Amino acid sequence: MNNAQMKGMRMMADVVKKEEESLDCSICGDKILPNPISGWAFGNNAEPINSGRCCEVCDVTVVIPKRIAIMCNRRKHGDQ
Ligand SMILES: [Zn+2]
Repeated sequence: MNNAQMKGMRMMADVVKKEEESLDCSICGDKILPNPISGWAFGNNAEPINSGRCCEVCDVTVVIPKRIAIMCNRRKHGDQ
């Protein structure tokens, strides 16, 4: 095996590794990007929308409002 082949193999290994590490958002379908500060690459819990993971944007715009709505509903009905 020559150097160019070795380099190609290594690049392919890197691509496979990245594919495994990046998750798709279960709500919008976009790739979940690692948090630039913490490096956390697995996004957020998408419950109660679904049981998968979701990206930062969907967490803020879809999941959290839904959680708040459910909490408000529970409070209204008095079953904590
Ligand atoms: Zn999303």
